[in-house]
Amino acid sequence: MIRYSVLSSGSCGNSYVFECGGQSILIDAGLSFKQLQLRLQTGGYDISTVTALFLTHLHPDHAHCAGTFARRTHLPVYVSRKCRLHAGTEYMALNLPEDSERVMEAGEEIRSGVFTVRSFYTSHDSAGSCGYVITVSGKTFMIITDTGTCNSQMIEDARKADILFLESNYDVQMLRHGPYPLYLQRRVAGDKGHLSNDQARGFLQDAGFSESGKQVYLIHLSDNNNNPSVVLEAMRGFNAFVCARGCQYNFECP
Ligand SMILES: [Zn+2]
Ligand SMILES: [Zn+2]
Repeated sequence: MIRYSVLSSGSCGNSYVFECGGQSILIDAGLSFKQLQLRLQTGGYDISTVTALFLTHLHPDHAHCAGTFARRTHLPVYVSRKCRLHAGTEYMALNLPEDSERVMEAGEEIRSGVFTVRSFYTSHDSAGSCGYVITVSGKTFMIITDTGTCNSQMIEDARKADILFLESNYDVQMLRHGPYPLYLQRRVAGDKGHLSNDQARGFLQDAGFSESGKQVYLIHLSDNNNNPSVVLEAMRGFNAFVCARGCQYNFECP
């Protein structure tokens, strides 16, 4: 059986865990280490089963406790080559011990216990940001978050995935008429920003999710420019589950 959880999603912190056969991996660590431990415990996960942490990028809502995690556990922490080369002080601030630091190439398949993890670059205002395709026990999961655009390769990969986690960050009208100043609106809606509900819906259509009825989890909802009911409405016709900001959700599949 595979168990997996959205430990938290949104600007207050992002983290996901996948477990199979007594081993687990973490994607992102955007919570305090204490909260991460607490939420793992709540979901019934033993942190000693974690074999590695994979970071999508270094914004604090994704990497907040990555350094502490590494110093406390001495487990491998993976970042992309571009992130390692160009993130500079952002990367240095993690203060990863040498024995934890791992650099991966986009597209490279990393084996971590029973998991195979492959990264792909996203389009975001953080050096070397990436998403992940995770394969375990015959199932494929894909995580696409913090990206202003999607490309045809992502659509192809999503077609092959069994379960997708997809950013649905903002509603276009809510962003336009919300509290954000114009420069911030442009940043969010730009090519290196975030996916809107409309973009996420278009992606699901392109990737054949309406016909297949495959499960999609909508993640990283903006607190100011979106809400779960608006996302659910936008995703009518899809097998969609909306993850509210900061909430934990636990799932399993046979
Ligand atoms: Zn980000
Ligand atoms: Zn983020």
